[in-house]
Amino acid sequence: MELELWRRVQRESFSKISDAADFLELDEENRGRLLERPSFPFLLPKRIAIKIDKNNLNGPLARQFLPLKDELIGGQGFVADPTCDSSFKKEGKILHKYDGRLLLITTGACAMHCRYCFRQNFSYPEGGGFFAKEIEYIKNDPSIHEVILSGGDPLSLSDMMLENLLESLSAIPHLQIIRFHTRFPIGIPERISLRFLEILKNSLKQIVFIIHANHFDEFDADILSSLKQVQSLGIPILLQTVLLKGINDDLQTLKDLFLGLSSNGILPYYLHRLDPVIGTSHFYLSKEQGSFLIDELRKFLPGYAVPRFVQEIPHAPYKTLL
Ligand code: SF4
Repeated sequence: MELELWRRVQRESFSKISDAADFLELDEENRGRLLERPSFPFLLPKRIAIKIDKNNLNGPLARQFLPLKDELIGGQGFVADPTCDSSFKKEGKILHKYDGRLLLITTGACAMHCRYCFRQNFSYPEGGGFFAKEIEYIKNDPSIHEVILSGGDPLSLSDMMLENLLESLSAIPHLQIIRFHTRFPIGIPERISLRFLEILKNSLKQIVFIIHANHFDEFDADILSSLKQVQSLGIPILLQTVLLKGINDDLQTLKDLFLGLSSNGILPYYLHRLDPVIGTSHFYLSKEQGSFLIDELRKFLPGYAVPRFVQEIPHAPYKTLL
């Protein structure tokens, strides 16, 4: 992450568990539930922290970001790289999994650290500056019609880096769509600055945003308004969500999330089954539990507001519909 942006994340976030514990007024019992030195470092934007109930580690936002000793519980089938991402590494920062599109792992940095992140052990390639090798790889493969800017979080890159990247991608004739996968605005919506909006507006390719959120409580008026500004450029925004035990595994929570965002023009895209990464077995739900919730949602919501329930099965040619 660029130094200035990183300083901002540091200023606007808790990176020490003890500071967050003080802010959340945790009692001794709750402090005892926290993992002091988690292998995946702690990072929590203050904007999210103020939405967490005091002295409660069981709420939907606390569970997503506070590292609990539950992370030490093992589980059969829980592995370091559940989607086998490392086997899809190509030139530089490219992951090429599916035909026609590929992921550019722009950075390892995020605005927050989600405890269930399937890429928490990923060995992010270092260096590479302005993605010269990656651009060359995409140029040389005319079957690629879409590039997905992933990470980490692509909004961790500076405006200058993003502008340069979008310009290089825009110059590739066979490329049609540039997709951003981001969670950054949920923690720091100010990242959607006028300068960044200008860069998006100048793109010669269609841009699509996929934001990641798991509970409607993550949102507030500033976040929705920053996303509206992106939409006002003709950029569709879709939602992807991970189904997580104790966070969003009930009908009302999912209804509130999908209806709340649909009414803001953000349509649900995927509901992911948890990728079984080590340390996340306390979030795990069966396939049947997820399918039941989706069936129930169909009774209450219009079809466009019900996401597809999917799982990433390593080496399958696309996400598997459950
Ligand atoms: S923002 Fe995305 S990549 Fe970053 S920790 Fe959360 S889930 Fe992982």
